[in-house]
Amino acid sequence: MLSVNEALEKILATIVPLEVIRVPLGESLGMTLAEDIHSSIDLPSFDKALMDGYAVKIDDIVNGSATLRVIEVITAGNIPTKTIAPGEASQIMTGAPLPQGADAVIKVEDTQRDGDNVVIKTTSPTSNTNIIRRGTSVRVGGRVLRSGMNLNCARIGALAELGHDEVSVQRRPRVAILATGDELVPIDQTPGPGQIRNSNESMLAVQIQAAGGIPVPLGIARDDRDILKAAIVRGLECDMLVLSGGVSAGTLDLVPSSLADAGVREVFHKVQMKPGKPIWFGTGRGPTGSVCHVFGLPGNPVSSLVCFELFVRTAIRRLMAIDPATPQAVVGQLEHDYSTRSDRPTYHPAQLNWTADGLAVTLVPWHGSSDLCGTVAANGMAYLPGEARQYRVGDCLETYAW
Ligand code: AMP
Ligand code: MG
Repeated sequence: MLSVNEALEKILATIVPLEVIRVPLGESLGMTLAEDIHSSIDLPSFDKALMDGYAVKIDDIVNGSATLRVIEVITAGNIPTKTIAPGEASQIMTGAPLPQGADAVIKVEDTQRDGDNVVIKTTSPTSNTNIIRRGTSVRVGGRVLRSGMNLNCARIGALAELGHDEVSVQRRPRVAILATGDELVPIDQTPGPGQIRNSNESMLAVQIQAAGGIPVPLGIARDDRDILKAAIVRGLECDMLVLSGGVSAGTLDLVPSSLADAGVREVFHKVQMKPGKPIWFGTGRGPTGSVCHVFGLPGNPVSSLVCFELFVRTAIRRLMAIDPATPQAVVGQLEHDYSTRSDRPTYHPAQLNWTADGLAVTLVPWHGSSDLCGTVAANGMAYLPGEARQYRVGDCLETYAW
């Protein structure tokens, strides 16, 4: 059986990023920039005051003191009209262009206005104090952002500063969700005897959204080969299809064979892990020949949750060319003793708390892969290698936040 890392490698080897499109800047958060961005201007584009105060000639200030004649007031957005001569100053506001002849700005707190004059009392000012020179941030033609960068808030702000109201990015994948099982009813219905609500669809939809994809819920398919195949064929129109349930060894676990009927080629089935061992992954084609990557997740809710976080999220990030695509562990310290006799590598729901001393990890009481309500105490999972072991307070564990 594949290890988790081997399964992740197979996903990366199977999936290539989606095509590049242009999107409005405001919709690009979390997407991957698919072009280098050079500045068409110097930034700042003029010598600029960084403080409200007075633009002066530094040589006029002797032992921190001077009395200067104020010749102009320069506010942001306006151009200075006068050159500072010896013995002169202009009042200037943050963001306004520095006048000719000035080489420093004395902040208003170090000045006192006296009619047409300003009296300066400051400590050891130097040339360029409280000024940013033209082109200090970037020169015209300089590369500000490079292709492959993930678009975070600061980068989107910089793109706006450079005048880009659209950017080239890999598009978001459309991810179909198909819940399977005779026992399922929609969440707004009261389950009858032996029935349960289709909670996985709601959870998968928000997981897809959080990972950057666009969820396309397809409802519930009964455990019937023809119904399943027809629903799968609809799902194959998307970039990805995530099925819930029907991949284990029960008599009505028809997903793998129905996927084969629909022409979906298996890449792997089953991974050495807990929860989530029966996970299935493969690739098919939609009616127009477009590629669709397919995951069959075990129906138990915590298995579905964990398998999504490890595998489906990786696939979505790969489609969006987000690097790294695979989950990145953060090491934290266990807050309590814990003994395990697990025979498989386990992803245990855990509470992850950032403290002044680092990441503190508490494994939540948990009754296994069907125990979603026990899992609500967790905000992530901790990795326990598959071996009998007594963990002690302070032991280091790899963790993944949800
Ligand atoms: P399966 O993987 O189909 O054998 O289902 C395993 C368990 O998960 C069963 O107890 C199902 O009732 C439960 N289950 C399956 N699908 C869902 C779903 N969409 N939402 C919540 N629980 C589910
Ligand atoms: Mg089932």
